[in-house]
Amino acid sequence: RSWKESAIPSEILDIIQEIGYKDPSPIQRQAIPIGLSNRDLIGIAETGSGKTASFVIPMMNYISKLQPISEHNFHLGPYALILAPTRELAQQIESETKKFTGPMSFKCLSVVGGKSVDEQSFNLRTGAEIIIATPGRLKDLLERSIIVLSQCNYLVLDEADRMVAMGFEQELNFILEQMGTAEENIQRQTFLYSATMPTAVEHIARKYLRKPAVINI
Ligand code: AMP
Repeated sequence: RSWKESAIPSEILDIIQEIGYKDPSPIQRQAIPIGLSNRDLIGIAETGSGKTASFVIPMMNYISKLQPISEHNFHLGPYALILAPTRELAQQIESETKKFTGPMSFKCLSVVGGKSVDEQSFNLRTGAEIIIATPGRLKDLLERSIIVLSQCNYLVLDEADRMVAMGFEQELNFILEQMGTAEENIQRQTFLYSATMPTAVEHIARKYLRKPAVINI
């Protein structure tokens, strides 16, 4: 099956063609229609499966319907948040996301450890629709009120099992509590990707996802 047979809007299809992606991978074929229909998703998948585009494409569809964030409304925070276990993965996701945000005139920013907080908070003032973060640094910026998540209704937890294995469970719970459980925030769409399902990840899934579709690649 080709991209054209999916429900992706033409503006995004044009970018996919521009990027030069081949036909959708199995996870993309399954996850994108679920994402476009506003359902929550658990994806059991490994890196290299094309999972990044499987959440970036529905995310771009979501953001394209909202008002761009500028210096006038940046204080309400981003529309979408992607959490990843490492700086390297966050940067990989950022480069994949920028293939879409660039042509659509949206901004994405990565907020990761090992970089200057001052520079990150300065960059946030230009208004980023999408933030890609590692849990430790994001928690820090949330505690300092440099980032707020009051209008963030699209959440991706990428490699959730690795985030837990790396000791980020407490930071993850802090961030998720701010965003509200699935019952508290019925607006939010949440994607959780994990290669395995340890208890801590299952606990997060039960609390923060609503009737998720589960796909196993
Ligand atoms: P990921 O599994 O998301 O880390 O993606 C692995 C690599 O595959 C990245 O370099 C993507 O740019 C690329 N990719 C993702 N989807 C496709 C596709 N449908 N056709 C060709 N390459 C793709």
